[in-house]
Amino acid sequence: MRTQEQIQVRLQDYQPYPFVMSHTSLVFDLQPTRTIVTSRLLIERKPIVEARQAGLRLDGVDLELISIELDGVTLKPGDYQLDETGLTIASVPDSFKLETKVAINPAANTALSGLYMSAGRFCTQCEAEGFRHITFWPDRPDVMSRFHVRIEAPRATFPTLLSNGNQVAIGEYDDGRHWAAWDDPHPKPSYLFALVAGDFDRIDDHFVTRSGRQVEIGIFVDKGAASRAHYAMDALKRSMSWDEQVFGREYDLDVFNIVAVADFNFGAMENKGLNIFNSALLLADEETATDADYEAIEAVVAHEYFHNWSGNRVTCRDWFQLSLKEGLTVFRDQEFSADQRSRAVKRIKDVKALRARQFPEDSGPLAHPVRPSSYVKIDNFYSSTIYEKGAEIIRVLQTMVGRDAFLSGADLYFDDNDGRAATIEDWLAAMRTATGNPLHGIERWYDQAGTPTLEAISQYDEVRQRLTISLSQSTPDTPGQSGKTWVPLPVAMAFFGPDGAPLRLNLAGTEVRADDWLIPMASDRLELTFDGAAEKPTVSYLRGFSAPVRLITNQTDADLALLAACDTDPFVRWESTQAIARKALLGAAEALAHGQEPEVPADLSRALQGALADAARDPAFAALLLRLPDVSELMQLKPLSDPSNLQAARLFVRGVLVEQLEQNLDACFATYDPAQAFSPNAEAAGKRALMAACLDLLCASQTDRAALRAENTFFAARNMTDMMSALDGLSQFGGLRFQTALDGFKSRFADNALVMDKWFRIQAMAISGDPIATFARLRSDPAFTLLNPNRVRALGAAFASGNPAAFHRADGAGYRCLADLIGDVDGLNGALAARLGTMFESCARVELGRQKLASAVLQELLNRNSLSANTREILSKIQAGLMG
Ligand code: ZN
Repeated sequence: MRTQEQIQVRLQDYQPYPFVMSHTSLVFDLQPTRTIVTSRLLIERKPIVEARQAGLRLDGVDLELISIELDGVTLKPGDYQLDETGLTIASVPDSFKLETKVAINPAANTALSGLYMSAGRFCTQCEAEGFRHITFWPDRPDVMSRFHVRIEAPRATFPTLLSNGNQVAIGEYDDGRHWAAWDDPHPKPSYLFALVAGDFDRIDDHFVTRSGRQVEIGIFVDKGAASRAHYAMDALKRSMSWDEQVFGREYDLDVFNIVAVADFNFGAMENKGLNIFNSALLLADEETATDADYEAIEAVVAHEYFHNWSGNRVTCRDWFQLSLKEGLTVFRDQEFSADQRSRAVKRIKDVKALRARQFPEDSGPLAHPVRPSSYVKIDNFYSSTIYEKGAEIIRVLQTMVGRDAFLSGADLYFDDNDGRAATIEDWLAAMRTATGNPLHGIERWYDQAGTPTLEAISQYDEVRQRLTISLSQSTPDTPGQSGKTWVPLPVAMAFFGPDGAPLRLNLAGTEVRADDWLIPMASDRLELTFDGAAEKPTVSYLRGFSAPVRLITNQTDADLALLAACDTDPFVRWESTQAIARKALLGAAEALAHGQEPEVPADLSRALQGALADAARDPAFAALLLRLPDVSELMQLKPLSDPSNLQAARLFVRGVLVEQLEQNLDACFATYDPAQAFSPNAEAAGKRALMAACLDLLCASQTDRAALRAENTFFAARNMTDMMSALDGLSQFGGLRFQTALDGFKSRFADNALVMDKWFRIQAMAISGDPIATFARLRSDPAFTLLNPNRVRALGAAFASGNPAAFHRADGAGYRCLADLIGDVDGLNGALAARLGTMFESCARVELGRQKLASAVLQELLNRNSLSANTREILSKIQAGLMG
């Protein structure tokens, strides 16, 4: 392997910056290929020992330095040193002014980090280290400054000029150019800087905070798209009042602007007072957006808004603390969505997402702690572990101390750290102080990688009417980490009798007797004894998924069937149904692998029948029950698997189920009225989800009747959700019906990029036909472009994660599809290529023949000298874990 040195940044090397950036004034003379950025900085040496002798070091990458002056005197080349990553002035006074003038080329910026152009407009993305592509500055989150920004550009092409904070002045030149000055009163780190210039449609609204501040809200979108911004506006206002009501946090500027752009590396960005969004997470109407889109928009609008406190007012000392803002903010947006919609359904969806993305990450070559101790490229650490596992740790904390104590801890954290760059210790200190709970061992959740396993073995003693439960936990070794100890686990439990009624037991030797138990586990093992069990209890473990662990139990099939039917906790009901399904699917895979006809246990169809019978009560929940574990989930349960065997097993089991349940499915499907007026709310979305789940299962019959039903659903669809559900059904058949629907879809939505992403995605994920040929056809479709991250993901990520049997095809053709795409994207956008690269992580779980093929394909990429550091970091870690 051609090893390029991968320079690690280490948490233990943290040093405070020796200077204070008291004031930052920037002037942007915007021109697409040559923008001039003039920066005037007031800098003071800190009165600390480390600062006494220090020279000034500023970050700066790909900047053409035009001039540099210190206290009004032009510096000569010998007075400073320029290198690949920045500028050093060895000797500076204790207090001085520094002025630099640089030129940058936004039109050539395909990495979409720093100042770049999207659809002819200027925009920025500075987190994590984009600001150094704009001007010389100490580009690290613990250095904060007051920013004053002046933007100049031609008025005709760029009528809107935005930056953080409040607009304080505007003006015109006589050559057709105009300018605007923005001032942000809140000191901030450079990663929260933003600038936008262009021609937009906008919608306006306002919000009055509980202390009476009038906030003007503007959402800026593509010309002609204003009508699709109203849902985001509504979600924003609901977020603003939710954060006041629940966390007591208010907005702190007179203006809040959101801009939607088509080309964006992530979902959205919380720049102070000027959030920038991927338009996929902002624009929605019934004709073009699905319920999942609406849900994601609501969550991400809330997420970015909530960052105003968890991230901006209190920011991170260094990027090792990233989860301090991201984990907490994900937790906050999850809670918001739970309050806006169904708490039970939201929890199940979050657990599904955690298991689909974070669990595999945590058990594979890319496993890392929620607070890593080193990294090569920080962009690669915007991971599911930092975000979703980080949020689960916050939830564990809340469960341990209780909701009210938790909220007072959060309050203390915000108040004590307001205006500061904080650490995870600061967060835990506030929680401990406010709650009086020592939270023993909680740090290990942040420092130990790997998903803990919780084993729960119950034993019933009929004579003594006694139930004993032995709990034991362990966390597996992960790359570079072994010898782990227990983490604090709140284990929520309840007991049910043979008739499904809740049982009240009492903890042996005490008077404590309850329906619901929250057992705080703070050791490797714990023995529990419950008395008063006249009948054999069935134990419901980990209610509400009270901790992010893998659970192993000695529950019998009968226990699972009982819980699936009777548990009062919706999560455990769903989980028990899933457990029955997992067992059936893995059993079928085993049988097929041995050339035998699989048997589908009656428990499974009975559980689904129960779900259908009860569907009207909570359609969204029933829809979740009806969805069987997918191939990727099964791959996690079966080491060294053959994904096509798992896919065959899934097809087989679903085929049997639909035979048994066809009438029930038909009846449930028939309750749906496609002509009903559209509302994006959770209740209406639940009905659509149920219809889709029924249709999905009906299509597993592979009968012409089902194909016709999917086709009719497609033509009757009055909204994008139903249209996609129908296309999904048709994709199970492939052939002319699917193709005709796709063609109609394309001609109707050809000029809507977000809808065309769906057209790419559904085909990339289709298991019918020849998925490798489909991939090639989509890649050469005129609508495909490497320059738009959404489009690249709609093909590459959808294929690799949504079509596992094709991606992991035995001859390696799927691996080559993705590797070619990564190779082509990498030169344009290394961060995007690296993210696609993470899809190869699943190769560690397939049988050795496939692993070898994947390893060879990765080696070819790694042999390229020009491969970006981002992609190299990801692929080399994955490859090191493969057999090859
Ligand atoms: Zn975030």
